[in-house]
Amino acid sequence: MVELKEETPYRWRIEPETGMHVPGIVYASRALLPDSGKSGAADQSLVQVANVATLPGVVTASYAMPDVHWGYGFPIGGVAATDIGRGGVVSPGGVGFDISCGVRLLASELTDDELRPALPALMDALDRAIPRGMGKGAVWKLARSSELEEVLLRGAGYAVERGHGEQGDLDHCEDRGAVADADPDQVSPRARERGLQQVGSLGSGNHFLEVETVETVYDEKIAEAYGLWPGRVCVMIHSGSRGLGHQICTDFVRLMEKAMPRYGIAVPDRQLACVPVESPEGRDYLGAMAAAANYSRVNRQLLGEAARRAFRDATKRGRLELVYDVSHNLAKIETHPVDGRERRLCVHRKGATRALPPGHAELAPDHAAVGQPVLVPGSMGTGSYVLAGVPNGGAFYSACHGAGRQMSRHQALKHVRGQNLAASLEAAGIAVRGASRRGLAEEAPDAYKDVDSVVEVCEHAGLARTVAKLRPVGVVKG
Ligand SMILES: [Zn+2]
Repeated sequence: MVELKEETPYRWRIEPETGMHVPGIVYASRALLPDSGKSGAADQSLVQVANVATLPGVVTASYAMPDVHWGYGFPIGGVAATDIGRGGVVSPGGVGFDISCGVRLLASELTDDELRPALPALMDALDRAIPRGMGKGAVWKLARSSELEEVLLRGAGYAVERGHGEQGDLDHCEDRGAVADADPDQVSPRARERGLQQVGSLGSGNHFLEVETVETVYDEKIAEAYGLWPGRVCVMIHSGSRGLGHQICTDFVRLMEKAMPRYGIAVPDRQLACVPVESPEGRDYLGAMAAAANYSRVNRQLLGEAARRAFRDATKRGRLELVYDVSHNLAKIETHPVDGRERRLCVHRKGATRALPPGHAELAPDHAAVGQPVLVPGSMGTGSYVLAGVPNGGAFYSACHGAGRQMSRHQALKHVRGQNLAASLEAAGIAVRGASRRGLAEEAPDAYKDVDSVVEVCEHAGLARTVAKLRPVGVVKG
């Protein structure tokens, strides 16, 4: 049992106990604390927050975002940084299986009213244009393995060079669409094999493409800088690195389990397998992880292009401006102050979104004055948010990544019937395409925490600022 001390109504502390190098900090309201609601099964995510605090080299605190829930090793919604110069480790469980899973938001030239007559045609066009599900089929059939190599090395820039998008898209991608230091040689043959077939496909589970309209603007100045105004129709895409990323995570968890004893590392949970960042295995993982991240950036670039084509076909107006593309499963080498000194850290964000403050050097010129867009998809049919990074943001400049599960897929299946759900979504004016009844039930809104409350905590806890809320009008489910 983990004991929580209330620091503020939006911030709770786990005191460091045996083995913990730092405290745990949980950003949540009382109502959002794991296991406080109707989850049914005991959620172990707070134990996981405490376990992460035992990792070698971890600094400041092991953090949990307000949408935290039980994950593999790290909780989903977990943030932790390790000091590279002091034996700090990297852990694949702190990135997750869907490496660089993330969200891309595009804004159309249509208003809600203009779209309405064309919505059924648009949804049908998206239904045809967006490959999804577990299997094969993708927007881009890579001709040769050398093409995959370029994808892994160069990310979205390569896709744009090959005609899949506009140069300007890259300005609004995290890392300009490619993580440096990707090492395709560390990507196993099995991971490559899975990757060849799937670049430009949504996947299954909670991945989706939504047509949304800007419902409420909370901060006009920032919303204007992002190109968001009430009634503007947008497209939100949530997808990741598909089987390739999953295979890389599997490969390196196995490898690190074996390597750990060599570095004298013991962890309280074998899912937290890790090695020092400055070790051959650590460098190899980060090289493979960067390659998977680049794959995911290409994947979302291609899905965005497919959406542009569908808009062109169905509405004759295909211009979709990229608002932003950001990951929520990644480890990054960043510099942050620790005890008053700048340190090189390996920042793990798993189910957490980087949220750079205004004035940060890595921001695009048009975002420099207002901070980085933070894209927060809600559960199916409930609406999504755009937030912005703030000065002095907590948890190494991180914020939430979604609503956060409170029911397992299995529990959701028992509670919700997909058929009823499809009917109620359609009754609410939300067009649904491509989802199986089972898939719908697994992702039902009741299975998730309330995204409004999650975002409210982010704002009150000083992690990010609320900019706009988007309402779904159509969903394509993986
Ligand atoms: Zn995701």
